[in-house]
Amino acid sequence: MKIPENIIEEVRSSTDIVELVSEYVQLKKRGKNYVALCPFHTEKTPSFTVSPEKQMYYCFGCGKGGNVFTFLMEMDKISFVEAVKALASRAGIAVVIEQSSIEKEKSEFDVYYEICRFAGMHFYRNLTETEEGKFALAYFLQRKFSDDTIRTFGLGYSMNSWDEFLNRAKAEGFNEEDLLKVGLIRKREDGSYYDYFRGRAMFPIIAINGKVIAFGARKIRDDDPIAGKYINSPESPLYNKSKVLFGIFFAKEWIRKEDNVLMVEGYADMISLYQAGIKNVVASSGTALTTDQLALISRYTKNLTLVYDSDSAGSSATVRGIDLALEAGLNVNIVELPQGEDPDSFIKNFGKDEFLKLLDKPISFIDFKATQFKRAGAFETAEGKTNAVRSIVQSIAKIKDELKRSFFIKEISEKYDIYESILLRELEKMLNKERRKPLTYDSKQVLTKKDKPVAEGKTNNVERIPAEEQDIVKLILEGNAEIVNFILSNLNIDQFTNNRLKQLASLVLKIYSEHGVMSPDKTINMIEQEEMKSLISELVFRKYEISERWQEMDKEINEPDQMIIARDAIIKFRRKLIQKELEENQRALKNASMMHVDTTPYLHKHQELLQMLKDIESLKFEEGL
Ligand SMILES: [Zn+2]
Repeated sequence: MKIPENIIEEVRSSTDIVELVSEYVQLKKRGKNYVALCPFHTEKTPSFTVSPEKQMYYCFGCGKGGNVFTFLMEMDKISFVEAVKALASRAGIAVVIEQSSIEKEKSEFDVYYEICRFAGMHFYRNLTETEEGKFALAYFLQRKFSDDTIRTFGLGYSMNSWDEFLNRAKAEGFNEEDLLKVGLIRKREDGSYYDYFRGRAMFPIIAINGKVIAFGARKIRDDDPIAGKYINSPESPLYNKSKVLFGIFFAKEWIRKEDNVLMVEGYADMISLYQAGIKNVVASSGTALTTDQLALISRYTKNLTLVYDSDSAGSSATVRGIDLALEAGLNVNIVELPQGEDPDSFIKNFGKDEFLKLLDKPISFIDFKATQFKRAGAFETAEGKTNAVRSIVQSIAKIKDELKRSFFIKEISEKYDIYESILLRELEKMLNKERRKPLTYDSKQVLTKKDKPVAEGKTNNVERIPAEEQDIVKLILEGNAEIVNFILSNLNIDQFTNNRLKQLASLVLKIYSEHGVMSPDKTINMIEQEEMKSLISELVFRKYEISERWQEMDKEINEPDQMIIARDAIIKFRRKLIQKELEENQRALKNASMMHVDTTPYLHKHQELLQMLKDIESLKFEEGL
């Protein structure tokens, strides 16, 4: 019922973890490894580490770690089998599994994804194959969307009916409960169900992994009783509005390539620009920018260009978005379109070249804010000018980079002929205010996080574990048969004081006894418990702690000799055991003398244990180095 092991191994060895991860996050080389902002928790400084050598990843912030399969499982919320299949097709390896086994391993997320995929195809067929859909097709064509574009973005049409989709989905084998969960149907008070989207042009919302997770639906019929021009899928297990950017799946590679992202407002704006060949574009879907969306962007680029029509450019939501983006460490520029134009209409009326000309001369957030104030007449009075400048300095105060701040202060000083010293004093005041805020941007992020491993500090937990036990398990994991044998013949894993390590060690040793000693990225595939997989990664990415001698050795050596570490760790481990016995014996001796019992056996034992301690130390000298 499982995928054959040799196939799993073939897929694993033909997938490079650096390549895979870099499709999702922006990796930077650091020493032997690569680092990035962690895709599994919100952070400002990268603690997510990928090792090309070990073919594993580990986040020092949230403790998530694993190999290519766990990465994809976690990222795309899919099962192990699905992850193997996905990577197999990526590597061009054929995987044949019986249908029944897939059914068995299907997670609830797999079902939700399937429903959304089915819905997307269903709406697309409504659009392209039905009589009723012709009307919606005409709407898209009139917007100058080509057949190619319609297919690429999977645009569609929901029939003007209360149960057309519901019945088709049920016939397909999906149940009402799941359909309700992803927001495609609704429940009446009498318990019956009906279609959520009726008679609308459908825009599938596609997550970064290329899967449909929700829909935006545009009004196109005059008899549509719902007022909203657009209605969106409700929040669901798959869809969190504040974390999604429309078009990100299509645009991500282009954003990285151009090292810039264009942010537009509407679905149609995004699609039009993309169709015109300006592909590094995403849409915020009309909502105000969120910190999660900005975090998503900063995985691909630090440069954000807001492309807004002149109405929304002036809105307070835009201004707030700018401040949030500055706070998130992004460079923000604004392109303002002529009165009455949005990106969609502009590209159709004036063409790609004219649009590119606009992009060539974006305005900085400083000039943008100044222009807004000027339009409102603020610069006509001294007081107005003061307020305007203060507001601009307020935005500058959001920037974390001190050098950038001083650069912008200089710019304002020159532009508005204000002494730099005055501006700096104002900035300092605002920075103090920011610092005094009870919740900073960072801590708020941590607190609102559902899974907040950062606060719990997994790494700290491990630090309380005896270092020698960690080192020993790490050595076992590294998969050198000679070392593993040496360890096993010199100590008993059952005597470990830490239960997690004991559990992991015996699990790994059991795998070794069945399959032979293997590298950690392979071992991970044989283990089911999520927690153990992360613990493996954690240990693999940690440095060896205790080998005192290696500290003294040549600093040029990158990796200490495993045999030296193994010896030192074993010695320390055994010494501790004996010391514990010594203490216990001493307590017993004390008791015995208090009770006037013969103390000779305890005294003998004491001598014995002391001798054992000595032996260990001399063993260290004899065998060590
Ligand atoms: Zn993390």
